[in-house]
This record gives sequence, structure tokens and C-alpha cells, in this order.
Amino acid sequence: KKIVIAIDGVSSTGKSTMAKDLAKEIGYTYIDTGAMYRAVTLYCIQHNLFKGDQIDEEKLQESMNDIHISLRFNPETGRPDTYLNGVKVEKEIRGMEVARWVSPVATLGFVRRALVAMQQEMGKEKGIIMDGRDIGTVVFPEAELKIYVTASPEVRAQRRLDELKAKGEAASFEEVLENVKTRDRIDSTRKESPLRQADDAVVLDNSHMTIAEQKAWLLVQYNK
Ligand code: C5P
Repeated sequence: KKIVIAIDGVSSTGKSTMAKDLAKEIGYTYIDTGAMYRAVTLYCIQHNLFKGDQIDEEKLQESMNDIHISLRFNPETGRPDTYLNGVKVEKEIRGMEVARWVSPVATLGFVRRALVAMQQEMGKEKGIIMDGRDIGTVVFPEAELKIYVTASPEVRAQRRLDELKAKGEAASFEEVLENVKTRDRIDSTRKESPLRQADDAVVLDNSHMTIAEQKAWLLVQYNK
């Protein structure tokens, strides 16, 4: 039986939807690591740790012990809800303001070390599907199944825009496309655990696939 399924890839590929659906299908626990980086970013916004385009790294480092993140399964959505210091922040972490800051925050080594340790702890549980950028390369290099998801920037921007609109947040296609591309660039060029495909990952380009097709593809990989 497989223990860890790692799903990595560029921003807004629908990794979390795939991961959630597969988890439900095979009875695994889904862990969204992007939500954890987003929660740290929200904390920074709430505590005024961004000045101009800089992060007050010293204050953030001092604050790391005051940042408590938990993921609690919500049976209504089939996904975990993200809690920051006991408060549900699922809606807040998905907005554009967090999206703008999250990649710079995720370049910080002390943030990554703290979250990776938490993720490895969560993964001790049997049967997990974890999605992120460095799961197959850093968090669980020994994962039994690694998927690397990609799609064209335009397709991804449109998906993210639809999601934002569904939540009632206004944003333009250009703004979202720019954010998707900027995050890809920061994520793949940062010093600490940059986004890259693990050597033993299976690649999925889902630009032209429906959710049902992706789910079927994933099940084939899982059953191999
Ligand atoms: O997956 P999601 O888009 O929610 O992730 C938000 C951001 O968090 C990414 O753009 C990336 O900068 C960072 N991240 C990361 N490592 C992970 C998951 C997310 O650096 N494992």
C-alpha cells in the first residue's frame, strides 16, 4: 500500500482539486502545504511585517513561535480548512493580497524549515496526499508516487481568475497572469528548495484536461 503521494508543480494548476478528489477516492488524508505558506503570509499582513516591498525578516523570525497553523478536515468541502492561531482563515489566505506576498515569504529559509518540519510530522500518518512545490524533492524524497503538474500560464491564470470571481474578489486577467508568472519565477529560482521536478516524478500537463480526465489519470498512476 502506498503511504505518501507527492503532488508538486507550478502555481494554479488545480493541484489541490486533484489532490482532494484523489484523497476522497482512496481514503487518504489531503494536506495542502501552500495553505501553510499562505497562513504565514497572512500573519505578516495582520502584523504589518511588510514595508514597501520588503519583509521585516527579523520580526518574522522572532514571531515564528507565535504562529500556529492547523489544517482541519471539513466534511462539507472535502478539504482541510486552514486555521491561524485558532481562527479559520480559509477565505483570507486565498485572496490576491496574500498571493502577492506568499512567494517572497516562501523564499525564507527559517519559514521553510519550520513548515517542512510540520509537514513531515503530519506525514507520519498513513496514507497522505500532500501538494506543494518541494514535496517530492525535500519534504518526502522517498514518496512512493510523485506527480509533477504543469499547464500553460494563460490556462492557469484563467482558472485562478474564475476561482477569485466565484469568491467575489475582483481582479483582471492581466493581473492574475502576472501574479502566476511572477510566483513561478520566484518559486523556481529561489535558493532554498526551488521548485523542480523530482527525477522520479511522473509529469502531467493538464492544460487541456477536464477534472474527470485528471482524476482517471491519477487513479491509473496510483494503481500501477
Ligand atoms: O500552492 P499555492 O499556490 O497555494 O502556494 C502558494 C505559494 O506558497 C507558492 O507560490 C510558493 O511560493 C509557496 N509554496 C512553497 N512550497 C510549498 C507550497 C507552497 O514554496 N510546498
